[in-house]
Amino acid sequence: MHDESSSRRAPGVVVGVALALALATAFTSTDAEAYCRSTTCIGADCARDADGCKTTGEKLFWASSCVGFSLQADSSEFIPFKYFEETAQRSFVEWSDLECETGVATMAFSQLDSVECHEAEHNRGGTNANIILFQDTMWRYTGVDNNLAKTTVTFNDETGEILDADIEINHANNNFTISDTDIAFDLQAILTHEIGHFVGIDHSPDFSATMYAGYEEGSTDQRSLEPDDVFAVCDAYPPGRAASCAPEPKGGLGTECGGVAPEDGDGGPADASGCAVREVDGDDERGSPWPALLLVGALVTFATRRGRSKGVG
Ligand SMILES: [Zn+2]
Repeated sequence: MHDESSSRRAPGVVVGVALALALATAFTSTDAEAYCRSTTCIGADCARDADGCKTTGEKLFWASSCVGFSLQADSSEFIPFKYFEETAQRSFVEWSDLECETGVATMAFSQLDSVECHEAEHNRGGTNANIILFQDTMWRYTGVDNNLAKTTVTFNDETGEILDADIEINHANNNFTISDTDIAFDLQAILTHEIGHFVGIDHSPDFSATMYAGYEEGSTDQRSLEPDDVFAVCDAYPPGRAASCAPEPKGGLGTECGGVAPEDGDGGPADASGCAVREVDGDDERGSPWPALLLVGALVTFATRRGRSKGVG
């Protein structure tokens, strides 16, 4: 329904929402299709159905049929980049080109250039990146102390279109592992769960689903998707959806924090650390079409097709 190749107006009010995976055992269900879509409704006042899914607000979605992601170039001091990259790729493959009842879901991913930026941010009107990054020394979020990771999604709150998504991994408080033995917190399993948020899927009450809100230490179960997760993708990105593949972020790929303003090539706002988040507010800039794409990274499109059966490696 959305064509990335067309010029677009700047969106209206844009709101960021953070979704976290915690060590939690909240509620359980065995419903066959219990999945929940994330919506534009934020906070405790959102109405929910019997499964706990939000029923108010627009459902979130990416307009493109393929979404670009970038890895933070420094990885974690505990995990060499090579292994970070391999693990992230396997996690994205899980969500790629899934088979639905009527064909293949219109969602795939492309790895773009790695970025120096070490922040979850969205730069309105400038360059951007959908970043996967580690927080090794400080987990700045308050609330649940044992959060393993957090995905921040920025969207147009009038349409639900996702504009940016960033995944932060909390290595400051947790020991992530990448092997198939001696597992503590399995990076691949947790990334696979977070990518569900990345594409606009909320927690599922289905205990077996990868989008269930909890993670059991030592488990690799969530490395692969369950039928409930696949149903969610097929709902959000149905086969035949009128969408083109445009993996570059809004305004083009930016490897530095703060983005680059397309109008003047300026480096955009930055604080003393060299990394700043441009505040997203309720103002709009209607009538200003998005600029032509500035930069295309090296594309690696994942096109692995999977069935619905579970195959934990
Ligand atoms: Zn989660």
